[in-house]
Amino acid sequence: MRKKNRRNFIPILEISLFKFCLIILCIISGINSQAYSYTARFRQVKDKRFIIYYEDAPYTILKNILLKANYYADRIKKDLGLPFGKDKIEIYIYRDLKRYLSLTNQTSPGAVTSLKERKIQTYFGVGEFLDIVLPHELTHIFFREFVGLETKGIPLWLEEGIACLQDKQRRLSYRTILRTAAGDNKIFSLEELAGISDLSQLEEDRQEIFYTQSTGLIDYLINKFGKDRFLKFLQALRDNEFSLALESTYGFKKIEELKEEWQRFLRIR
Ligand SMILES: [Zn+2]
Repeated sequence: MRKKNRRNFIPILEISLFKFCLIILCIISGINSQAYSYTARFRQVKDKRFIIYYEDAPYTILKNILLKANYYADRIKKDLGLPFGKDKIEIYIYRDLKRYLSLTNQTSPGAVTSLKERKIQTYFGVGEFLDIVLPHELTHIFFREFVGLETKGIPLWLEEGIACLQDKQRRLSYRTILRTAAGDNKIFSLEELAGISDLSQLEEDRQEIFYTQSTGLIDYLINKFGKDRFLKFLQALRDNEFSLALESTYGFKKIEELKEEWQRFLRIR
């Protein structure tokens, strides 16, 4: 997996992004943790938009999380047009992995996000949190708040692609990865991509291609047609099926048409 400069968290574990995303999927399916019952044990740092509950994390790190969370919220609004939403977002920082696993009922290291409760839970020392996980999870929260928590039929590639686009490194590298994958005949057709709703059925390298390809598609839609149209597309998703929203906003009658345009876009950039 990619090595990064981790300025503020001591990496005690190497965790790939797609593992975080698998955890997110569980939350989307409605599996929630029980952290609220432990709130009394936490101290907190907060501002107008975020509350960070923590056990033993150093104060400077907490302040930095607050700073970064606000920065990402502003950036997501600027890049995608997705507003922060009504309520504050809670970020829980458990003392260590052991506490995290026991208090969230998770079985894997990383972070877990409840979209409905607008709550992210992780632990002190988790790798990649500030640079990758935090912007990714915040985008999931803002996106779902915008299109509606109960809105059905949103393809997984759209949901994950939007979140992955906030990973700067992935944004910069996806073309190279996709060209290699295409050369190895490992790329998904858009029909295949659209049909994927459970990543646990895929091998890890295919999961990674799924995320990369999803990132590329969202980047294409925003780069080619602009942010405003993308936001209209997301608005259309609130009340329409995906294919109708795609056609009414972008004029693609079939997903096949999007594929042809997207492949052209990949080749020329
Ligand atoms: Zn995700």
